[in-house]
Amino acid sequence: MKIVFRLSVLFPLPYRALPLVGNGLKKMVAATLVIFYLFVPGVVQGVYGTSEGPAKLLKSADNCRKSLFRSTGKKKYRDNWLKCIRKYGLIYSRYPVSEQAPWAMFRAAGLLSGLYAYSGRSKDLDRAIHLYQQLLRKYKGHRLADDAHYRLGQIYYKYEKDLIKARGELLEVCKRYPSGDMRPKAESLLNRISGELRRKRKPRNRISIRANKKRIAVKNIRHWSAPNYTRVVIDLDGPVKYSHHLLDADPQHGKPRRIYLDLNNACISPQIGSPVLITGNLVNQVRIGRYKRNTVRVVLDMLDGGSSKVFHLYSPFRIVVDIRGKQKVSTPVCGIRAKTVVIDSGHGGKDPGCTLGKTKEKDINFEIAKYLAKKLKQQADLKVFLTRTRDDFVPLEQRTAFANTKKADLFISLHTNIDKDRKKRGLETYYLNVTTNPDSMMVAARENASTEKGIGELQLILQKLMLNHNIQESKRLAHDVQKAMVSQLSAKHRGVRDLGVKYAPFYVLIGAEMPAILIETGFISNPIDRKHLLSQGYQRDLADGICSGMLYYLSRAKLDCIYH
Ligand SMILES: [Zn+2]
Repeated sequence: MKIVFRLSVLFPLPYRALPLVGNGLKKMVAATLVIFYLFVPGVVQGVYGTSEGPAKLLKSADNCRKSLFRSTGKKKYRDNWLKCIRKYGLIYSRYPVSEQAPWAMFRAAGLLSGLYAYSGRSKDLDRAIHLYQQLLRKYKGHRLADDAHYRLGQIYYKYEKDLIKARGELLEVCKRYPSGDMRPKAESLLNRISGELRRKRKPRNRISIRANKKRIAVKNIRHWSAPNYTRVVIDLDGPVKYSHHLLDADPQHGKPRRIYLDLNNACISPQIGSPVLITGNLVNQVRIGRYKRNTVRVVLDMLDGGSSKVFHLYSPFRIVVDIRGKQKVSTPVCGIRAKTVVIDSGHGGKDPGCTLGKTKEKDINFEIAKYLAKKLKQQADLKVFLTRTRDDFVPLEQRTAFANTKKADLFISLHTNIDKDRKKRGLETYYLNVTTNPDSMMVAARENASTEKGIGELQLILQKLMLNHNIQESKRLAHDVQKAMVSQLSAKHRGVRDLGVKYAPFYVLIGAEMPAILIETGFISNPIDRKHLLSQGYQRDLADGICSGMLYYLSRAKLDCIYH
């Protein structure tokens, strides 16, 4: 049946001309006719009563179409449409390699979808879709390809009400044929579809099977680069399953080394331009396209060797690709060059961090960060940067990327803690590692703005990433800073509690090229800690303590370089 059906698309007339014949017999007769068409060209000419070349046939078919479109009366009769469609069918089936064939196929498809508007028969529309798709397959790169994609987009939008499919076709027009004449039309329809999708999404927040089937859109691609480092972040509007692969360079086909990611059940948001050009030594550009029906492929074209790590973060879901150059970053910090430190004041902008009444974590972190930066800047051989200099929202992955692009030697992230138990107080310093301690996991879950399930997954990712080489150095830095903070504060303030050095998987520390720590300076839920943390004197002393710890670490690192 399949074969007969397919062939009936190519040879519409005889199959349809046998309405009164029984089904089995019908198939047999149709098959016989097909054999006739294929092997006895003279018969075709006999059937159609013509021996003209494709150019003449196209002209005759075009005349048929024009005459149909001119007359409202004619358009009411199915036979009149079929007559013209058959004329076009003859051209592309009889002369498939002629230059007229794709035009005939395209016009036949157009007539079929026009006919559908009158007949309402889904078979007419299916055949139109089939012909457009066949045109795209058979005549790859033909100048009608963008028109075919556009027409498919229109059909999916107007008749099938499948916005996602429609968007896919229109995106093809914009991406593959950016200078083609169909692009403006495609863009305008894409805008309309995007608006409708946005409106549709809102009321569909309630859980439904339909919503689960919705494809997840790739919304944005962000990137940061330093000579020896590039981070690319793919932002999506929900979690997707994905895989990533590394492909070696293929000089024969002029293809560079590539990393590609396949995102399942995904689609591309129209506002994304492709390719995204990257200035750096490691990645040249990021390309994005629909690979299969439901799969979006993101390709990073590499300029040089280097290693890559891929992981994802939640709330909102995004995939991070870190690429490092071949030369290893030196740890511990050695030599006499000026050192760079990056101070990260946690949260900011729309993300207040822990909040209790009017007390917001982001404000406390920022005050301490400012004192710390000021103190560190007094050291002649230190360059100091802040991840935020205002009350701005900065995504976690951007903070690490910032430190990496600044080629920082140390990275310090400042935070405050909160707990249901108001008695809980004290300060603690973390470095990045997997943990089984439930309290540490809770802290990480909160700082990562994720669930505990998310943390479990993150731990698995961390294990796969094989952890960076800075764990031991980060641990040393954490001990130096914790010790200095506690001794500085205890000398001047009462009730300072040392909770020690701990480790947990913090997003903000993942991918840091340098020793990196996260300090929880105290619990805003505890009255003693809160009073401390809100006092300028305490904030200053805290910054002093952190500064001494960092300088001590740097001086020791220098010694290590001399003696080892
Ligand atoms: Zn925090």
